[in-house]
Amino acid sequence: MENTIIASAPNILTDEAVKVLRPKLRGELLLPQEEGYDKARAIWNGMIDKRPVLIIKCAGPADVIQAVNFARQHELLLAVKAGGHSFAGRSVCDGGLMIDLSGMRGVRVDPVKKIARAEAGALLADLDHETQAFGLAVTAGVVSHTGIAGLTLGGGQGYLMNKYGLTIDNLLSVDMVLADGRFVTACETENEDLFWAIRGGGGNFGIVTSFEYQLHPVGPMIVGGMLLYPIEQAREALRFYQDYSMNTPDEMSVIAAILTLPEGVKACAFIIGWMGNPEEGLRLLEPLRKFKEPLADLIEVIPYTQLQKSIDAGVPHGMHRYNKMGYLPDLSDEVIQIILKYSGHINPYSMVLLNCMKGAVTRVAPEKTPFPYRSKQWYFDITSQWIDPAEADTHLAWTRTFWAEMEPYTRGTAVSWLSEDDGDNRVKLAYGLNYKRLAGLKQKYDPTNFFRLNNNILPDASVDAIK
Ligand SMILES: Cc1cc2nc3c(=O)[nH]c(=O)nc-3n(C[C@H](O)[C@H](O)[C@H](O)COP(=O)(O)OP(=O)(O)OC[C@H]3O[C@@H](n4cnc5c(N)ncnc54)[C@H](O)[C@@H]3O)c2cc1C
Repeated sequence: MENTIIASAPNILTDEAVKVLRPKLRGELLLPQEEGYDKARAIWNGMIDKRPVLIIKCAGPADVIQAVNFARQHELLLAVKAGGHSFAGRSVCDGGLMIDLSGMRGVRVDPVKKIARAEAGALLADLDHETQAFGLAVTAGVVSHTGIAGLTLGGGQGYLMNKYGLTIDNLLSVDMVLADGRFVTACETENEDLFWAIRGGGGNFGIVTSFEYQLHPVGPMIVGGMLLYPIEQAREALRFYQDYSMNTPDEMSVIAAILTLPEGVKACAFIIGWMGNPEEGLRLLEPLRKFKEPLADLIEVIPYTQLQKSIDAGVPHGMHRYNKMGYLPDLSDEVIQIILKYSGHINPYSMVLLNCMKGAVTRVAPEKTPFPYRSKQWYFDITSQWIDPAEADTHLAWTRTFWAEMEPYTRGTAVSWLSEDDGDNRVKLAYGLNYKRLAGLKQKYDPTNFFRLNNNILPDASVDAIK
């Protein structure tokens, strides 16, 4: 039979093989010429333009098992897309099979036990929507169109982390498909080593089909919003922020950002989430609101779900992106000076973000999960964004030069924010003291490195992972 499907791996995949696979699926199988293919392969970072040889839009775990077995049997590179927010574009591939989980977005909440079970294609907005109906929530990120899967598997930082820990600190169990096609549950009492590994180890160990989270009472009304200061006051604002963000109660989360307002004015913004009693929050926020006259004070009592969407519009799908991220133990004058130097010529779509980590995040031992950076510190991120592909060199150069000056002040990074050019060393840095154990578990669960389109942990047979 003539093979019309692929030119890139013609000896591996035939029309006949695809014909046999199609009726075994409840979801859709998409070939490059078929309707829906381009939409399915698109991800959040518009700079990534990759063409899988086929896409399986899974309807449930059975489809994921079929897809994994098919990719393994036909030696196809395998990509997994959940929310599609991988900066590096690892959720899509050229010439391989892409598993698209975006059709699996169900969330079931047990309000009595305060537990949610969410399918792996759910977005943060889906999880927040369902849990907030019961006045509950779990730590999630600060952009509601991010996928829960990639976020959870990378650690999960957001407004609730100082009070309730990272997303992984609230993970109770997962269902997942391993490289050999086995469907397993991993939790504290079953496949415990695998459960340890996936709490930060990314997609290295298998494809998670659902996550179970411990929820906490949150809102539904909280104190949140933005304070904006002119960029000329950024130095003073960041100095004030250093002390304020670290020394307020764990219910308080303050992100500092350098950004451009819609009118083209550069500003220093504080994005605030207070998860406790609103009156107390408003009282505690007074010093921040009064230390200088802001350009705008947009703090009010709002639904938690509104806070969770408050910066969505600034990071829409499809723009071109590049980013660099690290943890800062100090917001010293030198660090602030570097931020100000580069913020002076930040492009209108780009942002610099700082977020304070304290409280519950820091009460978990560095080796308890693969995520080792548990000290009091600030997350620091440069997200460069632009629309015209021809501008890429300019924005890449600005970000890299900025990062080169900043990097010596950082201690560690997180896999969730690594870019395509961050090599193995930055993956190792992100896992720090936990890398060795992860490499041993990779050897145990995925010795052929079948799941390699991720921040890859190389299997290491020399490590005894059974500890
Ligand atoms: C705009 C934006 C805001 C962000 N904000 C935050 C934040 O506030 N807090 C935070 O912690 N992180 C944040 N991140 C980082 C984010 O957590 C990671 O980019 C994360 O990987 C995105 O998950 P996803 O499911 O959307 O991405 P995808 O691109 O779908 O997946 C990311 C990676 O995870 C793998 N993967 C996806 N699903 C599965 C699965 N079911 N099983 C196994 N592997 C899987 C993919 O193969 C890929 O390697 C943000 C990212 C962006 C782009």
